[in-house]
Amino acid sequence: MNIHEYQGKEILRSYGVSVPDGKVAFTVDEAVEAAKELATEVTVVKAQIHAGGRGKAGGVKIAKNLDEVRQYAEEILGKVLVTHQTGPEGKEVKRLLIEEGSKIKKEYYIGLVVDRATDRVVMMASEEGGTEIEEVAAKTPEKIFKEFIDPAVGLMPFQARKLAFAINIPSKLVNQAVKFMLGLYQVFVDKDCSVAEINPLVVTEDDKVIALDAKLNFDSNALFRHPEVQALRDLDEEDPKEVEASKYDLSYIALDGNIGCMVNGAGLAMATMDIIKYYGGEPANFLDVGGGATTEKVTEAFKIILSDPKVKGIFVNIFGGIMKCDIIANGIVTAAKEVKLDRPLVVRLEGTNVDLGKQILSESGLDIVAADSMADGAQKIVELVK
Ligand code: GDP
Ligand code: MN
Repeated sequence: MNIHEYQGKEILRSYGVSVPDGKVAFTVDEAVEAAKELATEVTVVKAQIHAGGRGKAGGVKIAKNLDEVRQYAEEILGKVLVTHQTGPEGKEVKRLLIEEGSKIKKEYYIGLVVDRATDRVVMMASEEGGTEIEEVAAKTPEKIFKEFIDPAVGLMPFQARKLAFAINIPSKLVNQAVKFMLGLYQVFVDKDCSVAEINPLVVTEDDKVIALDAKLNFDSNALFRHPEVQALRDLDEEDPKEVEASKYDLSYIALDGNIGCMVNGAGLAMATMDIIKYYGGEPANFLDVGGGATTEKVTEAFKIILSDPKVKGIFVNIFGGIMKCDIIANGIVTAAKEVKLDRPLVVRLEGTNVDLGKQILSESGLDIVAADSMADGAQKIVELVK
């Protein structure tokens, strides 16, 4: 789960990790009011969306007085920001962070992730802050330094010092940087983060080491331990179809193609996407309805697929092991009655209660194309959406 920058900074602050003073604002008036309260010489107006690259897209503005704060707030609030992380459709800005301006001497990068190869949390640091770290990693990987952290003892001060020296933090500020890194690591572990990225970490003209940006992602499987983090979830920032699917405990991921897929089992769902692509089609989603799905769950899944205007046809591919084919058939029929089924539907059923399932479908009066096998079904749906 992702949260906003201002929320991330509040968590960091509560752990003694230095961040600029700031306040969230939902309206232009609130933005001006927040700037008044901060009463700093320079104020930064920052778009709050769940994506980076805002600076380049015009979502970060430096205001020298309250009139400029108002002007930038009016400009950014309600605007659809398109950054390299939002995709071409962009994201509408609904919140602003009004923050004390910092006089930057130099920008650095600090990131924490779980490294799958070593099964350890790794802290990465680079002197090339501010820019896209993916680009640094691709072009000049030698400029990223890493320390792998032993979970039994946590990040050791000597490791933090090593990183601080490696990225040339001015020597008189190394202790500040070390304190920062240790605090950041503590947040990562305590809150079950999957990513903690500070880009840029800055050294200011008045010799402070602070996080100018903050991106915290949390392991969804650990959220039950952190109601305070769950409370920060902003459903506006998530795909409404995925939000709907999560209510019914369906594993659904929206994709870019036009063939909606309804499958049981993650492996079969992956294989179904592969075979659609093999025959020249593009899946519109990954959807695993799970083993023990009820008719209600299948109905919801079908409705979610149909609610996507990109979907030009649907391929249902079910292997009835634990899941019974008649449950799937009933779900399809119920959903098709509730929402008008106005697009081609190819169904391949195999396994438990397959005959009953087929009978339910054929007696439903729905316009369904039956498939004999996965390959047959994939070819048929690819042909139908053309
Ligand atoms: P991102 O583009 O979404 O990653 O947003 P960031 O929070 O990283 O901001 C982008 C850039 O804006 C930073 O790299 C800084 O160069 C600049 N910026 C942000 N806050 C300040 C500030 O307080 N003072 C100055 N001078 N620049 C800032
Ligand atoms: Mn950034």
